[in-house]
Amino acid sequence: MEIDIKEKNDNQLTFIVDGVDISFINAIRRICTVEVPTMAIETVSIIRNDSALFDEVLAQRLGLVPLETDTEAFIPVSECDCENNNCPLCSVSLVLKEKGPKVVYSGDLTSTHEAIKPVYDTIPLLKLKEGEEVELEATANLGKGVEHAKWQPTTTCAYKYYSLITIDEKCEACKKCVDECPRNVLDYDEKANEIIIIDSENCSMCKTCMRECEQNVIHVDAQEGKFIFKIETDGSLSPEDVLRDACDILSEKSEKIVAFCKGGSKK
Ligand SMILES: [Zn+2]
Repeated sequence: MEIDIKEKNDNQLTFIVDGVDISFINAIRRICTVEVPTMAIETVSIIRNDSALFDEVLAQRLGLVPLETDTEAFIPVSECDCENNNCPLCSVSLVLKEKGPKVVYSGDLTSTHEAIKPVYDTIPLLKLKEGEEVELEATANLGKGVEHAKWQPTTTCAYKYYSLITIDEKCEACKKCVDECPRNVLDYDEKANEIIIIDSENCSMCKTCMRECEQNVIHVDAQEGKFIFKIETDGSLSPEDVLRDACDILSEKSEKIVAFCKGGSKK
């Protein structure tokens, strides 16, 4: 398997992976989306809420605030022996206490753990008028996207086939394909009087060029075993962390299957 990183920043990672089959790449995609754990607010104790926002709506908004996650510092609630799901091994407390008039933002949440805090400070939570107050204590736990979307670390996680564009020699360079391609994949080389491929990675394989070509000399296909994969996260984890955790989870699952099969064959 070969991996070529095309673009990388704090929240986004685009890479080309070659030499894998579609079931593998799809398993990685699904695990990235719903099985890599992140932190999110799960329970909220509202002590005072004078704002116009219902307690339930406020609690739901708090749940959707992405939290910077250190997956190694905590264990999932399901694996913790504590009684009330709120010990330091499985939970982090975040406190909010504000007085109006003001707009209360995610940045106003005070966390009891230095590594777990809102990724963005500017997410509006509620508006307080003169004299109104809000006071609450929220508890964040590790969870998986398969339980609730608030625990999904990815906002985009998708792959597409790597395109294979071929142009026959008998092409007369009528330029129709160049004009009609919606993603500027093709260009016309005046000197050589031929159609050239300038950005095959941008091809969505819509095959407009094939339909427009009267000579039927341009062909677009998917390259076997080669994909362009894109991961974008909400900031709770870096895309590399998501990918690494997904690979670990898949390898753990595979080992379980192998062990199960070996155990079965002994009998
Ligand atoms: Zn616990």
